[in-house]
Amino acid sequence: MICYSHPAYYVPLPEGHPFPIEKYPETLRVLLESSHADKLDVRMPLPVSWEEITLVHEESYLRAVESDGLSSYARNRLGLPHHPRFLERSLLDVGGTLAAARTALEVGAAWNLGGGTHHAMPTEGLGFCVTNDVSTAVKVLLREEPDLQILIIDTDAHQGNGNHFVLGDLPNVFTYSIHVGANYPAQKVPGDMDVSLDRYVEGADYLKSLSGSLRKLGSAFSPDLIFWVSGVDVHVKDRFGQMRLSTEDMCSRDGVVLEFLQSTGASWVGTMGGGYHLHTSQTPQLHAMTVENSIAWTE
Ligand SMILES: [Zn+2]
Repeated sequence: MICYSHPAYYVPLPEGHPFPIEKYPETLRVLLESSHADKLDVRMPLPVSWEEITLVHEESYLRAVESDGLSSYARNRLGLPHHPRFLERSLLDVGGTLAAARTALEVGAAWNLGGGTHHAMPTEGLGFCVTNDVSTAVKVLLREEPDLQILIIDTDAHQGNGNHFVLGDLPNVFTYSIHVGANYPAQKVPGDMDVSLDRYVEGADYLKSLSGSLRKLGSAFSPDLIFWVSGVDVHVKDRFGQMRLSTEDMCSRDGVVLEFLQSTGASWVGTMGGGYHLHTSQTPQLHAMTVENSIAWTE
């Protein structure tokens, strides 16, 4: 499995900050120490260009991120402090998803061991998401291949409002999100298929809703390329996800999605999305588990 990762995905955050940014290098480390290590081909992405990132984001917003020019209101909505390397980190992370998508179109599947920053909007960062990787990659690819049929499968516990906002009007992009209805973001942006679940949904109910809705989706849209915002904040021990999936349920979740991905015959790219396990060291373990499940599935 070709996986994109870069040491600069990590920038230091203040002690006790709720975003576990060390999960990026840690997930790679767990994978490199796993029984699937010999199946990994880890590559470093290039950052997306200014011209590419501004297909989605307003230049004034990006400059404010770079120069510590965000208002305190905007900073609160983003949920991250200023760091001089945050813009560079974001451009690399978006580059990772774009590179993984290009690789997936060539070889069938690839991962960005980052990305899934699905809340970011053109003019503001939201919920720990500075820039929107999937939306930018979609815009870049559609400029090159306007007929490409693209599907977003978002199984992060939170709705993919940024992707829905940016991609909603594009006729050959279909957005699917399965999430807790009464959780963040308070203001949802409707997608093509939203599966809104109750707070603290149990694993069995979640899996039933996931399989049933993906079955419907399979007959509604026929994609060439799928972006999977996987997310591990569906876990029962997550601080913010408000779902009750056990680790075993999460494996079943991955299996249902991977079976769907394979059934479409489309190329697919995996991105990490959110994960905020109460025991911080478990978050990269869960992300690595999803990547390992995908390797086992595609063997
Ligand atoms: Zn989330």
